[in-house]
Amino acid sequence: MNKKIIEMIAIERIEILINNALREINDNEKLSQSYANMALKIAMRVRIRMPYSIRQLFCRKCKEFIVPGVNSRVRTGRTKVKCIRITCMKCNHVYRKLISI
Ligand SMILES: [Zn+2]
Repeated sequence: MNKKIIEMIAIERIEILINNALREINDNEKLSQSYANMALKIAMRVRIRMPYSIRQLFCRKCKEFIVPGVNSRVRTGRTKVKCIRITCMKCNHVYRKLISI
């Protein structure tokens, strides 16, 4: 099979899994994490970079699936540069993200 087609199918599956993970995060966090892990495994197997919107839902340190307001905390910085601070409530890792408006 063509590599592009495999990638397309992989991304489609990843998106479905992430949507499921987002839907379950409030009711069943364990199930939500397992959906997210499946998505990660697919990305690794096919060796693709996940779309940024999905990548930012994973903690850079512990690789857990983190959703703002559920298991991560998002704070806006006070500096002139527009940035937000995301705190993973699993491992307490804090990272900054610049927002471009
Ligand atoms: Zn973490």
